[in-house]
Amino acid sequence: MKIIKFGGSSLADATRIRTAAEIITTAAKSDRIVVIVSAMQGVTNQLLSAAQLASVGNTSYSEVYAELADRHFKALRELYGEKGNTLLHQQLSDLFSELYDLLHGIYLLRDYPASALDTVASFGERFSALIISNYVNEYYPAYFVDARELIITDAQFTNARVLFDQTNIAIQHYFKQAEKEHKKSIAVVTGFIASTEDGRTTTIGRNGSDYSAAIIGAALNAKLIEIWTDVDGVYSADPRIVPEAFVLAQLSYEEAMELAYFGAKVLHPATIIPAITKKIPLLIKNTLNPAAPGTLITESTGQWDGIAKGISAIDNATLITVHGTHMLGVPGTAERLFKILAQHQVNIILISQASSEHTLCLAISETQAKLARRVIEEEFYYEIENHVTSIDQKDNQTIVAIVSDRMPGSPGVSGKMFQALGMHNINVNAIAQGASERNISIVVNSSESTRTLNLIHQTFFEKTKRLYLCVIGVGNIGSALLQQLQQQRAYLINQGYDIRICAVANSKKMLINPNGIDLDTWQKALDTSTLAFHPHELAQKITQLALINVALVDCTASADIVNIYQDCVRAGMHIVTPNKKANVLPWHDYQAFMDLLKKRQKYFLFEANVGAGLPVISTLKDLIAGGDKIIKIEGILSGTLSYLFNNFDGSQPFSKLVHEAHNHGYTEPDPREDLSGMDVGRKLLILARQLGWQMELSDIKVENLVPKALQDQPYTETFYSQLTQVDKKLHQRAEDARKRNMVLRYAGVLSKESTRASLQEVPLSNPLAATRSSDNIIAFTTQRYCQTPLIIQGPGAGAAVTAMGVFSDILKLLHYLPY
Ligand code: ADP
Ligand code: ASP
Ligand code: MG
Repeated sequence: MKIIKFGGSSLADATRIRTAAEIITTAAKSDRIVVIVSAMQGVTNQLLSAAQLASVGNTSYSEVYAELADRHFKALRELYGEKGNTLLHQQLSDLFSELYDLLHGIYLLRDYPASALDTVASFGERFSALIISNYVNEYYPAYFVDARELIITDAQFTNARVLFDQTNIAIQHYFKQAEKEHKKSIAVVTGFIASTEDGRTTTIGRNGSDYSAAIIGAALNAKLIEIWTDVDGVYSADPRIVPEAFVLAQLSYEEAMELAYFGAKVLHPATIIPAITKKIPLLIKNTLNPAAPGTLITESTGQWDGIAKGISAIDNATLITVHGTHMLGVPGTAERLFKILAQHQVNIILISQASSEHTLCLAISETQAKLARRVIEEEFYYEIENHVTSIDQKDNQTIVAIVSDRMPGSPGVSGKMFQALGMHNINVNAIAQGASERNISIVVNSSESTRTLNLIHQTFFEKTKRLYLCVIGVGNIGSALLQQLQQQRAYLINQGYDIRICAVANSKKMLINPNGIDLDTWQKALDTSTLAFHPHELAQKITQLALINVALVDCTASADIVNIYQDCVRAGMHIVTPNKKANVLPWHDYQAFMDLLKKRQKYFLFEANVGAGLPVISTLKDLIAGGDKIIKIEGILSGTLSYLFNNFDGSQPFSKLVHEAHNHGYTEPDPREDLSGMDVGRKLLILARQLGWQMELSDIKVENLVPKALQDQPYTETFYSQLTQVDKKLHQRAEDARKRNMVLRYAGVLSKESTRASLQEVPLSNPLAATRSSDNIIAFTTQRYCQTPLIIQGPGAGAAVTAMGVFSDILKLLHYLPY
């Protein structure tokens, strides 16, 4: 004998009911089966809202009623087509009239006791079981069973407790009779509803049809209880909130119970108890995908190589903390607290007590918060008056539970969890570990619930490390980076790294997709995007996505983007950028940014700030971290100036060389930005700040190669003819140098003695003399590298190598992130 239960999600409309009927008739061919059905999806909510409206005299209850009738009769029409089913139509009409009378009664009374509420709610299952039993009967003999004849409960309406002795007898007796009367027909039983011993209608708690299935299954010694729903089984987390969640092939009863208790809606927690007593396996199956194997719940946890098995969450909780200076150490105080809450039927979801025993923290449902607060205040009136006790209340809380049979004896689970939460700046308001150690629960602000679930999922369940990038600026560097990322995607996935682009933006538009933007088509998608780009708005939208491990990749040179860095860091983002602006902010602002990064444990990576893709910053950081003392850093730090002086051999005037370089695109659009030396000055400042030197840009002496008169006028093509005034002098300097076996190089030097960027004569034996094309070269003279400096040389400009610098930072970030 097998129980087959269909949830409301499997009975949303005629199409789904047809699928359910197919599943039923197929199963009936090989087994004796009993079917349990919920109300059609959403119907219980609608019924309860109609009752509520009626009770306050709102006539729109009849609209809700009409919608309900519409839905059911529509399903009927679709199931039976032209020929219809007159008898069923009549039976359904009768039931609807009964419901209408009841709602009207509530409307007249302006009151609805819990018992009336249960009677109203019972119609959902009665409608669906009536329709389904009749429809199945078209293909295989089937009959309707009202569970009020089978399941006997106490009179705690809306959440009635099952009286198992009477219930088991009633079920067994009923089916014994039914077997005689209906032979091998299929019973289609209403889930969720029951009755008191004196015949009043009750319900056994929301989502309770699963429980009905288990109660009936246990009473009939079923060999299997199948729960058919709209997902492939029990997932490692709610798949609507955690996109990376996956189906668990097997769970132990205890694991399933903990997950269900802490919010995994796929199964009602009470379902497990009757199943356990008779050791009946439960199988969760998907009506929309019957071929999927589903999740099997038995005594065994199954094959599993992780520590944790699943996570779930309960929203809408309130945390009440009772503080007492010496009170809680006194035996009996906790007892008083729990007693008074129990007396008022306040359901405590979680308890946590500080080992000092000075505080006791309770999580309860938001709906009971007011009541709980009032009764606690009454109970401890005297202590509160005398200031030995105080009460604290935090609303909008979510309880997140991490569950596994493996946790007992697996140290470090909570350590790992708290490290991850800390790194992601998620504040934990309370912690509790079940005595069975099968569950660790934490309470967080509900605004953090999505991030918390995804983070814990990433930490404990996912083998690939995920990093989301929000790429701003898709000019040369940005688009080269996207291309490199696309090219390496398969390789990185293979290495366990999943980099997804959650946003791209240019100066006009932005494109956002939390599932990852397709790197084959991003350009077109961005062009056709209707979202205008505003830096703050983008930062906000990314924050709302509640992703974990996100980096802002700023491929612009804009100060406007730097202005959102702090917001981004506060929203939990790391920053990766070739943009130098943040690193050259006035010291006070720079320091504030650094402090924020430290406080929020976020990375700011900017390898491409100096030497494009050359590993300058990382080498410097390694030298410092390794305890070496930096004596001097010198080098050629501007690709453009490098190119100009590598090619300035006297064969043509300097101004002509600059013009040519400009035409080839080797300079900034306004070449004065290169010739001014400021770019070199900024890079020196960035290096100096890495050394911990508190410097401003104005502390660096920078030789400007542009004559004073040309410095401030607007840039036009006539610039080059005016620049000829430097030709003679520069030619002379180059000649003089040559005579001394030297060459001219625009170099930067950073040492205790001087920090300057200037045109210098460099002996031919000096490595700086050996640069080619637009090479950058950086020489570190340190305590350990003092005879010969440590030299890094190579192309220091260009989109591909700059993007590579950014890419290497992204890879570093992936290595740094623990989860
Ligand atoms: P039914 O109407 O079939 O009883 P429910 O809505 O009660 O269905 O339960 C199924 C839903 O539970 C799924 O659609 C899913 O969104 C939600 N859910 C929450 N947590 C989990 C989980 N860990 N695994 C699977 N589903 C879950
Ligand atoms: N129809 C009931 C509810 O919505 C019971 C169930 O679906 O399991 O709560
Ligand atoms: Mg359900």
